[in-house]
Amino acid sequence: MAYQDSFEVPCPYCSETISLDFDYSQGKEQSFEFDCPVCCRPIDIHARHTADSIEAEAVRELD
Ligand SMILES: [Zn+2]
Repeated sequence: MAYQDSFEVPCPYCSETISLDFDYSQGKEQSFEFDCPVCCRPIDIHARHTADSIEAEAVRELD
């Protein structure tokens, strides 16, 4: 079974799908800030590597 090393989340502002790489050096659970390449607004990304997939959520950093 190949490990998945990228994942997609919808931008919480513009709903555009964003592809991100999962950085294994940061551990199985990570959160980081990412600027949407489409609308340039900051997103809080929370990603967790589980047994066979990557669960990710994207949260607005701005209110
Ligand atoms: Zn966006």
